[in-house]
This record gives sequence, C-alpha cells and structure tokens, in this order.
Amino acid sequence: ATPTALLVGTGRGAQLGILIKGPEVLESTRKVDTVVLDKTGTVTTGRMTVAEVVTAPGTDRAQLLRLAGAIEDASEHPIAQAIARAATEEVGPLPAVEAFQNVEGEGVTGVVDAHALLVGRPSLLSDRSVAPDAEVAAARERAEGEGKTAVLVAWDGEVRGLVVVADRVKATSAEAIAQLRALGLAPILLTGDNETVARRIAGEVGIERVISEVMPADKAATVSALQSEGHVVAMVGDGVNDAGALAQADLGLAMGTGADVAIEASDITLVRGDLRSAADAIRLSRKTLGTIK
Ligand code: ADP
Ligand code: MG
Repeated sequence: ATPTALLVGTGRGAQLGILIKGPEVLESTRKVDTVVLDKTGTVTTGRMTVAEVVTAPGTDRAQLLRLAGAIEDASEHPIAQAIARAATEEVGPLPAVEAFQNVEGEGVTGVVDAHALLVGRPSLLSDRSVAPDAEVAAARERAEGEGKTAVLVAWDGEVRGLVVVADRVKATSAEAIAQLRALGLAPILLTGDNETVARRIAGEVGIERVISEVMPADKAATVSALQSEGHVVAMVGDGVNDAGALAQADLGLAMGTGADVAIEASDITLVRGDLRSAADAIRLSRKTLGTIK
C-alpha cells in the first residue's frame, strides 16, 4: 500500500465527516460482510420523549413524575433524560436522590423523599419480586405493542405506574440500510430493548434480523459469536453500552453524537451522526484500497 493513497482516502473522509483513526483501518473494510447496528441513538434519534404517564389506582400523577424524574435526573440514559425533562416541565424543580444506583441495561434505583425507588424495565422490578397490577401490566403491553418503551415506576415495594417513552427512527436510516446492503453487508439490529420494540423499529428501516434484550455486557459477546460463525463484522453504535462491542468488531464505527468511550473504542467516527455515513465510510475505504492495490 502506498501511504499517499491511504492519506488521500483519510483526508477525503474528513471532508465527508468521516474520521478514520489511521490508514490501517481501511484494510478492515475489505472483508466486512455483516453490519451490527445498535438501535437507540444509532438507527433511532435517541431523543426520547414521554408519550404517556399511567398511574396505578391511588397514585398521584404529580408525585409519580416528581419521584421518577428526580431519580432519572441522576442518569445519563436517553430514557432517563426524557423522563427528568418531562417531570421538570410538569412539576418543577426535582428533589435530591440518595443511594443512587445505575443498573446497566435495566434502570435505576435510589431513595427520593424517603421512598425506595425502582425505575426501569420490567425485569428490574421482577428480579426484586415487585409485580405490577393488572391495569399497569395492560398499559405496558399496549405501549410495547406500539413499539414504545414502558418504564415501570415502583416505590416501597409496589408498582405505582409507568412512563411510556418513545423514540423515532432517523429520517435517513432506511436509506442507509439499503446502501449497506448494496455494499454486500447483512444488517442486524442489536439492542437491550425488548423484542416487540426492536422488531417494530427493524421493520421501519428494512432490517430482518434482530438480536434483542442483550445486556450491555453481552453486546461484545454477540459480536464475537458472529465472528466465530466466520463473519467479518462491522459494528455501528453510539452509547457507553456499545463500547465493548465496538472494540470487539473487526470495524467499529461510532456516531460522533455519541459517548466519548464509544468514539475511543472505534476505528471510525461518523461526525454527523447520520447512518448513511457508515455506508460512505465503507465505500470510500474500499475505493481507496482499490486505487492502491
Ligand atoms: P439500548 O441497547 O437500546 O441502547 P440499554 O441497553 O441502554 O438500551 O437499555 C436497555 C433497556 O433498559 C432500555 O430499553 C430500558 O427499558 C431499560 N433502561 C436502561 N436504563 C434505564 C433508565 N435509566 N431508566 C429507565 N429504563 C432504563
Ligand atoms: Mg445506543
């Protein structure tokens, strides 16, 4: 490989908003046959908004928002930020949280206004033997059926309601998936979210294969399992929870809009946060290699 051609490739990349860590990265793009895509913040905008608040009988909506908002205010998860924002808008300044704990890929726990809170996906609560009543369970099913995420809110051992949050696919994601396919890459959607939500989003952008309910610590293992099957894997992600998988992949591509650790773990940064840049990056790298073969 002539260094000059490689540098031209990386320079052209910078113009397109594609930052390539070093010329050696280009070589990895040659054999890639599979592209694993994180859902939240990568295929979707990650800008969650609260769509609905459901309270269990006897629970006050303002109190639910105040407590859930307060604890989520301590988390950086996009779901947490949406809930904290909605709570602040509706009930004003939020109280302090004590003993805050982030349970990766599940939710958060802590104490607010002397109440012991659990806020997160249903498994966070069921793992602690807290079950929702029929009404809240039905609201959860309905939300998930619509492709939305149900965040259950419990305190002092009882489910008090749920907050439904929704995300949107980026306007350019479907086109990006089509471009990746045209480059010969098979797309796979990888997410910690549940199967129903994952299928719904996948359907919207034209992805058939979905790997859902994957805990953050297992995302890297999912990539290495695909590698063991003989695939050469590109991973596109944005979150703290994607860093391990991005490092494990043969080619890691991070959204420039994402977390610093994701960017550090990757070979390529897509400055614009537009998934079409992933296809541009692979096309450009292959073209550059073509000129120097
Ligand atoms: P993704 O892979 O879609 O980026 P994560 O692995 O970060 O998602 O989280 C998986 C699921 O865990 C989320 O869809 C959500 O249901 C739940 N979750 C994680 N963190 C929180 C939080 N701070 N508040 C509420 N729910 C959360
Ligand atoms: Mg993400």
